[in-house]
Amino acid sequence: MINHIVVVGSGVMGRGIAYVGALAGYSVTMVDINEVALKNAKQDIAIMLEKGISYAKLTVEDAQNVRKYLSYEHDLAKAADSADLIIEAVPENASIKKQVFEMIEKYAPKHCCFATNTSTMSPTEIASFASRPEKTIAMHFFNPVHKMPFVEIIRGLETSEKTVQIIKEVAERMGKETVVINEFPGFITSRISALVGNEAFYMLQEGLATAEEIDKAIKLGLNYPMGPFELADLVGLDTRLNNLKYLHEKLGEKYRPAPLLEQYVHAGRLGRKSGKGVYDYT
Ligand code: NAD
Repeated sequence: MINHIVVVGSGVMGRGIAYVGALAGYSVTMVDINEVALKNAKQDIAIMLEKGISYAKLTVEDAQNVRKYLSYEHDLAKAADSADLIIEAVPENASIKKQVFEMIEKYAPKHCCFATNTSTMSPTEIASFASRPEKTIAMHFFNPVHKMPFVEIIRGLETSEKTVQIIKEVAERMGKETVVINEFPGFITSRISALVGNEAFYMLQEGLATAEEIDKAIKLGLNYPMGPFELADLVGLDTRLNNLKYLHEKLGEKYRPAPLLEQYVHAGRLGRKSGKGVYDYT
């Protein structure tokens, strides 16, 4: 039975996962090593609650529950100690994820399940950073988490059916539809999304059209809800680049990151979260 969920990482995804968890009535602790990120996450969630009430998406009671069930912590060892499920949402970087999984293996109770919100990486490899592969799985949420109705669940080689069922139930209680798939780099969604987004950067680099024109063509011509650059700015260009680097290593040439994307990341243009990406939000 899952009562207490710990979310590790309070960035773009972690704060959304913690929010939907508390809204579903779980006791949630959000952990980040960066105090500023944790403070920003708290402010962001306060704004989401206010907006939710003003647009009649949430009741005052819902908002009170989120405030009651959600706590913030920078000490992972302390938070992990009473967790039933730990959802990792730290950057898409194997050494950072390894550090987190080694730590939670040490401090989490034996019954606790581990989920990674990785967009591309192998849950089997991530499970190898701890010692409970049957209780480890990928639980891939989408951005923005409180609006997107879907979670992609990916079994690792040794993930047990019991763990799959637990994670499916948690996702459903958070109001999400699911599919459960076997592991392969990029799963279903990132494999497609990374290709489309990368191709758009190659087009921009070639001078084929402006970012606005490419986004307009994809939205109106192909009926996508967002243009590839609008989506890249929302996801974070650094996150997108990390995904592409991983997929390039695992799946080959067709995922080679566009040099223009690398250039934007080197320039600190990370998308909405830094105020400027392909578009300027300042
Ligand atoms: P982000 O950079 O916005 O946030 C990551 C957070 O993790 C930061 O606040 C950082 O301080 C924190 N962190 C780093 N090391 C830590 C540690 N050791 N302990 C605790 N906190 C730590 O990243 P994000 O966009 O939220 O992505 C997180 C994960 O979710 C990645 O694996 C990414 O691929 C995946 N993902 C991202 C999106 C998206 O649209 N951004 C969508 C689906 C999945």
